[in-house]
Amino acid sequence: VEINLPQFMDQIIERFEMATKNESISFKRRLTVNTDIIVFGDRDKLTQLLDNILSNAVKYSPEGGTILCSLKIAKDNVIVSIKDEGVGIPKENIPYVFDRFYRVDKARSRNLGGTGLGLAIAKEIVHAHGGSIWVSSDWGRGTTISFSLPFDEAVNVND
Ligand code: ATP
Ligand code: MG
Repeated sequence: VEINLPQFMDQIIERFEMATKNESISFKRRLTVNTDIIVFGDRDKLTQLLDNILSNAVKYSPEGGTILCSLKIAKDNVIVSIKDEGVGIPKENIPYVFDRFYRVDKARSRNLGGTGLGLAIAKEIVHAHGGSIWVSSDWGRGTTISFSLPFDEAVNVND
């Protein structure tokens, strides 16, 4: 179905804001809300995609951390980025984070729980929608997960 991405993301972020009310994590949005960005996709799958990425951002963030959610257009793709100020991922582990059951440093993430499937599923969903997904991270400083999705039209609501 047709999904208006800025509005869709805003709703999902709102749900995360409610769920993390007691964790002093703040969410920032750069969502170009004046523009309708329509992608064709599976609503449940795209929800799961954002859930998996956002739940990592929350899980690996320190208290008081900020999570920046941004959306931008690059040619025929829309690029979504979720940037956190968390523990980061060591360079040597970055190539594997999209593998099934892979978790960086089992000891550090033991308390945090998880199976190592979240990002593998995220990658599957992005590929099924014709996009790609990538990560950039500084150990100790934070992580940005980005994905692209092809889109058909962007309509400026003010036009
Ligand atoms: P699950 O998502 O299945 O509950 P998980 O969160 O451990 O478990 P993934 O979401 O697939 O698994 O992530 C894989 C690994 O990548 C994580 O275990 C963690 O080490 C690392 N990782 C993912 N996102 C972040 C992030 N935002 N900051 C730091 N490390 C991350
Ligand atoms: Mg996860």
